[in-house]
Amino acid sequence: MALFKTLENQEEENKARSVDAEVEKVKCLIVGSGPAGYTAAIYAARANLNPVMYEGLEPGGQLTTTTDVENYPGYPEGVTGPVMMEDFKKQAQRFGTDVRFGLATAADLSKRPFKVTIDGKKVIEADSLIIATGATAKYLGLESEEKYKGQGVSACATCDGFFYKGKDVAVVGGGDTAAEEATYLAGICNKVYLIIRKDHMRASKVMQERVKKTKNIEVLFEHNTKEIVGDTSGVTGAILTNGKGEDVKIDIHGFFVAIGHKPNSDIFKEYIDTDEVGYITTEPDTTKTKVPGVFACGDVMDPHYRQAVTAAGSGCRAAIDAERFLGAQE
Ligand code: NDP
Repeated sequence: MALFKTLENQEEENKARSVDAEVEKVKCLIVGSGPAGYTAAIYAARANLNPVMYEGLEPGGQLTTTTDVENYPGYPEGVTGPVMMEDFKKQAQRFGTDVRFGLATAADLSKRPFKVTIDGKKVIEADSLIIATGATAKYLGLESEEKYKGQGVSACATCDGFFYKGKDVAVVGGGDTAAEEATYLAGICNKVYLIIRKDHMRASKVMQERVKKTKNIEVLFEHNTKEIVGDTSGVTGAILTNGKGEDVKIDIHGFFVAIGHKPNSDIFKEYIDTDEVGYITTEPDTTKTKVPGVFACGDVMDPHYRQAVTAAGSGCRAAIDAERFLGAQE
């Protein structure tokens, strides 16, 4: 007997369960496919919960937009985010997780089974729900930023950096993401301006050192972006305000925003508690939300650590919490 389900087996099983039906009943639904979602899937599948996972807008989650991951245990030489997430996915599928494209667009958590709408049409009725929807990149909120999105303005250096090979670009933000994106872009571009609103960086010491050591990064402390300028070809520059209140123009072709993230909890907020930013609140030391049978893990509930390894750990806890919850219902 084969120990693990093959992908072909999985496809046949999906057909048998008529996954295209408008309403489908599942024991354990996982929404979101970052380290938290996949780890929850591995544990839930191994516990015979037959998990169904919807990957969301960004299959693989935020790590697919990062470069080298050097701090995930088990990869002594480091690994790229996309490769690591592909490994997570394969491992989840190997134990039978039914991984599907689709975005959860609405939820009714008023009673069990919970109803989660996918892509505005299909409804999944779930005995238990694991929310692993992560967080999404924030933008500055400037009109000109909106105007040039996709034409020079980006929130992902790994995705778009290549388009600015040999050119001058800017990164805004003073955290680890901004530092990482600036060093990554410095390897591709001619020059990188790092625009930081305070007189210091929030990034970890190691990342700050990397920025300092990189000759083609110019750090602009106490600068704020006033406007992004451009023409029909896209971004051509940015107007910044310095600490003295003076306007400074920089000539750039790419403008990368790296100022943090917003937790993707909006569709669940009516039923479960969140903090003022939107991070889901769970019972201390568990992944339990205030709705029995609904669990949250990963960046959507973690304003503090937000690491792949902590997200994976909380995904494991969510699956164990779901298994125990379902076990108690039988
Ligand atoms: P952070 O919240 O840590 O940093 C956001 C940065 O953007 C801050 O410097 C903040 O400034 C700045 N900022 C926020 N809003 C604005 C604005 N409107 N205008 C200008 N600047 C603004 O987010 P990150 O995405 O950098 O990191 C999130 C978490 O992920 C952190 O815990 C980080 O350590 C972790 N991480 C780890 C990595 C790794 O280990 N390889 C890689 C990337 C992230 P201010 O400081 O003034 O508030």
